[in-house]
Amino acid sequence: MKRTLLALAATLAVTGALAEYPEKPITIIVPFAAGGPTDKVARDFAEALRKPLNNATIVIENVGGAGGTLGATRVAKAAPDGYTLLLHHIGMATSPALYRNLQYKTLEGFEYLGLINEVPMTLIGRPTLPASNYAELLKWIEANKGKINLANAGLGAASHLCGLLYQSTLKVDMTTVPYKGTGPAMTDLIGGQVDIMCDQTTNTTSQIEGGKVKAFAVTTPKRLTTPILAKLPTLDESGMKGFNVSIWHGLYAPAGTPKAVVDKLNTALKAALKDADFQKREEALGAVVVTDNRVNPAEHKKWVESEINKWGPVIKAAGQYAD
Ligand code: ASP
Repeated sequence: MKRTLLALAATLAVTGALAEYPEKPITIIVPFAAGGPTDKVARDFAEALRKPLNNATIVIENVGGAGGTLGATRVAKAAPDGYTLLLHHIGMATSPALYRNLQYKTLEGFEYLGLINEVPMTLIGRPTLPASNYAELLKWIEANKGKINLANAGLGAASHLCGLLYQSTLKVDMTTVPYKGTGPAMTDLIGGQVDIMCDQTTNTTSQIEGGKVKAFAVTTPKRLTTPILAKLPTLDESGMKGFNVSIWHGLYAPAGTPKAVVDKLNTALKAALKDADFQKREEALGAVVVTDNRVNPAEHKKWVESEINKWGPVIKAAGQYAD
């Protein structure tokens, strides 16, 4: 009798806690510097996510460095109570091959909540770069071999993967300059401290529009529809047949987060992705909100697993790793 009462009390406590979730601010860790593409997605997304969570306060915390693995470690080690989440990109799938001392298990260390968006990338250059289109850029690269600086957001960042693929396709080695995110890298590119960068459209569109950087090409096989980006050629049509880099973002909680909280967050995530303001914002920045079955814990996890299997051999073949 006593045990039954205790069990009943425990069930009520859990149900009660859940009914109230979230009862305090939720922190979303962005594993890159402020002002960059992942930070921008996170801030817009948080606005949409708070609505189905009773207008909860959502705080964005930037924990940049080591290609996103420092922020991911923070979340893997956080209390599994639904109050510390991770918004991370493709780096979630490339880090197992890149980092020999990863402090978390990519598949077992998190509850997968669902994908958020897919973002094409653009190849951009400093404003003073003496090239105004892709053909001129190729000539400039040829004439400046051995002297070119390519910015990125660290091993495993989208800008790193794209830059790696670009250099190997072109068979030209550039000096890579790593930052804690492409937010600060963009500042240096605009200032002329680095020459070129491959970066997500969510971070480059307004800079291209404002004439702050030079834009040369897009990394997806189809041209983009966002007006300012539509005139850019694809790398695929510019002699790099098959060149295709598109970056996805997803949402995670620490492993062991109660299933009821995971379900509540997934339901809120689905609602947030249907938010008209969020969709409009993403579209204007060249990104596409995910609406397929990957907005679902099991499919999201399967997707990351397939990306680990896709990128692992590419990274190993390129001899890239960090201790
Ligand atoms: N996602 C990174 C950032 O937000 C950039 C990258 O991965 O290239 O800065």
